[in-house]
Amino acid sequence: MSRAGRPPFLFLLLLLFMCLLMLSPLCGCHPQSPASIRSTLRTESNHTARGGSTTAAEVAGYADVAKQIIDLAVFGAAQNRSYTRLARFTDTIGNRVSGSHSLEMAIKYMYNAMAQEGLDVHLEPVKIPHWVRGKESAEMIAPRAESLAMLGLGGSVGTPPEGIEAEVLVVQSFAELKHRASEAMAKIVVFNQPFVSYGETVAYRANGASEAAKVGAVATLIRSITPFSINSLCLSLSSPHTGLQYYQDGVKRIPSACITVEDAELMWRMAQKGQRIVVRLTMAAKTLPDADSFNTVAEIRGWQHPEQVVLLSGHLDSWDVGQGAMDDGGGVMISWEVLSLIKDLGLRPRRTLRTVLWTAEEQGGVGARQYYDQHKVNMSNFDLVMESDLGTFTPLALQFTGSDAAQKVMAEVVKLLAPINTTKLETHGEGTDISPWMQAGVPGASLHVADSRYFWFHHSEGDTMTVQDPRDMNLCSALWAVVAYVVADLQDMLPR
Ligand SMILES: [Zn+2]
Repeated sequence: MSRAGRPPFLFLLLLLFMCLLMLSPLCGCHPQSPASIRSTLRTESNHTARGGSTTAAEVAGYADVAKQIIDLAVFGAAQNRSYTRLARFTDTIGNRVSGSHSLEMAIKYMYNAMAQEGLDVHLEPVKIPHWVRGKESAEMIAPRAESLAMLGLGGSVGTPPEGIEAEVLVVQSFAELKHRASEAMAKIVVFNQPFVSYGETVAYRANGASEAAKVGAVATLIRSITPFSINSLCLSLSSPHTGLQYYQDGVKRIPSACITVEDAELMWRMAQKGQRIVVRLTMAAKTLPDADSFNTVAEIRGWQHPEQVVLLSGHLDSWDVGQGAMDDGGGVMISWEVLSLIKDLGLRPRRTLRTVLWTAEEQGGVGARQYYDQHKVNMSNFDLVMESDLGTFTPLALQFTGSDAAQKVMAEVVKLLAPINTTKLETHGEGTDISPWMQAGVPGASLHVADSRYFWFHHSEGDTMTVQDPRDMNLCSALWAVVAYVVADLQDMLPR
């Protein structure tokens, strides 16, 4: 019997040994998703030479965990959480322009909120611009008296205390300004450029002052960069939109402000009739020395490759108007929500999920640029960089920039979003803050939402909680979390 008894004992021992071997990568004493266990068991040892069908099968293995994330975010206990957090945050702090006390408060608020939740949070110091608007106004003096709704542009110089009173030259384009250069001397140039797209038309806000100064203008008023203005709904409000503008080196710095679409068109019609228009512009704007600020970083460390990172982001600063709820409170809250959802489900991916709330994005991506410079030495460890800064309305698609091979993986990942009907993958991820990474070849993703409303409210008093919708934010959070978690947990990093 001894001969008959030995083989089963050895077999059991061998089986036990094999089980231990298979489970050994999981022994980080952390919670595991069923999908990640399955994918660990399933994946072949040769990681680099996997074919498309293997990737598809691996990603498809996450269907259950994706559904859990979606259920929690959209229908479960986390329903409306990102919206509620956003309302509490923006109603408490208000807007938070670079260099302001309210931006400091916003950073403390988010740091405390994420730390209280038990996330691993830290701050990374950044020096940021400190521009203050001061008191400002614009009035039409001739051909009739009317006060003009306006907002000085970020970074603009002020006027003398008594203001600048000058005749107006209205043009529709830079080309027209060049053509009529001899008429611009000592005038206030009004740009009444039609809105084509934000990316194209924003050149007038960014460069209008320097272009006008080159031909002798004393100030500029720029039609707000928006496809829509509140005056056209016959409300008694009007909506100028602020934003950053740049002075070119060696060109005189003249004051620059945005006016409403309605007032720009009004002055254009008056000018077409040959009427002489005179405007008085008064701005107390000034730039103070750079201020101390921080990028706010929270993460769930990866269990297998903690040094490898899927980065999620939005920016915590805003302009000094409205509540900065849409730009970019929404992006901030869904990027935080991802960590909350993953934590609530007791999941922990192979790689680190890191949420970065940038500072001073509106000043030209200042916080993100510094973060990039300080972390680029570890570039090869950044798996995917994600940025939400185009609104958190109904999600339509994931925008993605990466190699063809990475596109193929992402096309499989978005299939997991079938329960919320957002399985579309579009090429060209966008975002000011992640652009340095994408230029360096790191795959980048952004949210495409079903709405042109973003540029109606962007950088204006209209950017408040009232434009946000809790269900839309649930969907955005679910999409953001599924994509980030699955990419962070796949056997391999996205191919470059
Ligand atoms: Zn923004």
